[in-house]
Amino acid sequence: MLLHESLFLLLFSCVLPIFPLFILYGTTFVWDKAPATGFLERKDSFMAESVLEKFLRYVVIDTQSKEDVEDYPSTAKQLDLLNLLTKELKALGVQGVGIDQYGYVTATIPSNVKVKVPALGFIAHVDTSPEVSGANVKPQVICLYQGGDIALPGDAAVVIRESENPDLKQAIGKTIVTSDGTTLLGADDKAGCAIIMTAVQQLLGNPQIPHGDIQIGFTPDEEVGAGTKFFDVKKFGAQFAYTVDGDTPGELNKETFSANVCTVTVHGRDIHPGSAKNIMINAVRVVSEIIARLPKNISPEMTEKYEPYIHPYVLEGGVGKASVKILFRDFNTAGLDDLKTIVEKTVAEVQPIFPKAKIDVEVKEQYRNMREGVEKDTRVADYLFEAARRAGLKPEWKPIRGGTDGSKLTEEGLPTPNIFTGGANYHSPNEWVNVWGMEKAIETIVNLVQIWVEKQ
Ligand SMILES: [Zn+2]
Repeated sequence: MLLHESLFLLLFSCVLPIFPLFILYGTTFVWDKAPATGFLERKDSFMAESVLEKFLRYVVIDTQSKEDVEDYPSTAKQLDLLNLLTKELKALGVQGVGIDQYGYVTATIPSNVKVKVPALGFIAHVDTSPEVSGANVKPQVICLYQGGDIALPGDAAVVIRESENPDLKQAIGKTIVTSDGTTLLGADDKAGCAIIMTAVQQLLGNPQIPHGDIQIGFTPDEEVGAGTKFFDVKKFGAQFAYTVDGDTPGELNKETFSANVCTVTVHGRDIHPGSAKNIMINAVRVVSEIIARLPKNISPEMTEKYEPYIHPYVLEGGVGKASVKILFRDFNTAGLDDLKTIVEKTVAEVQPIFPKAKIDVEVKEQYRNMREGVEKDTRVADYLFEAARRAGLKPEWKPIRGGTDGSKLTEEGLPTPNIFTGGANYHSPNEWVNVWGMEKAIETIVNLVQIWVEKQ
């Protein structure tokens, strides 16, 4: 069962006048309280389904991923949505739909033009962040949002404030969706999944729209940095790709951070505190001293735009051994070495205070800024910009202070900039999405595939 009756009524009353699609296709919109797959049999209504309907179906499926897990995907429940998307793609009549042993869902819409057009990929991830629960999501649909703060019914402390959400202005008079405040919403990136599925539906329903080969990809484990771990770029078969995993409508991304993770491990010596004099080496104190001395102005909470940061984010251990994980982020890849030097200098300062402690510093590469790879062939970004402009938006390139699956894919030779979804406040119970933003993303995709044909 997917929706409460009250939500169904709310949906029914607000969706119908807002989405002319239903009227256009002359299909009666009947929301069935059937299990997730029941709708597939009703092909007529399925083909005219709105992005909001799809989105609401996906967000109630718990797909939270998990850090530090050997299995892939990191949680089996992500397959619930990956399997559903597989079924839905087949029901839409897409070709070559498959789900592989890792859970990657891929499908193809073959070219319908004679000219040779580079194959384009569209990719979204199904998992939600491990930071906030994604179980029992109760989406709240607000029709014709009137402006002002939004109090969420499940937790009085969670309020989406106008002052902290400049994008709310753009949402006045539009439909927005929030969680009830007890969970995240999952717009990151189920909005992307719903956008791609609706774009597929529109392309198949309107064969007069010219396009080259289109490859669809749905991936698990993006939020734990493993979205492309086993993704076979060659087999996917796209020459250029786009992730649909951004936020503000009109915002496009072709620059991400370059990222390393550093682990500082302190080996101390534990002994009963009663007989510890001159013997104990307390790793907790050593690690605390290191963290306390890290520069506070180069932190996520003190930086913005292109500024780099050092971010201690996991602290664990005891007297005998303690460690801190630290994120290094910089748009300039070479700058990551400077951040490492800062940590090494800090360790060198602390070492003489605790001469017997053994302190190790280990740095691992995470992902790299996609800019260089995307700029090798300017078409991939230029056509996207034009597609968003034709959707009536004022597109803008914004650097992402994070990474996307596109960072890794670009590194592997598949240039993959990122498209907005209309979502905001990701990884938090304050997450919300502007349905108009999702519709504009669909329009952008449909424009984009045509521009690639037009420019050949
Ligand atoms: Zn995401």
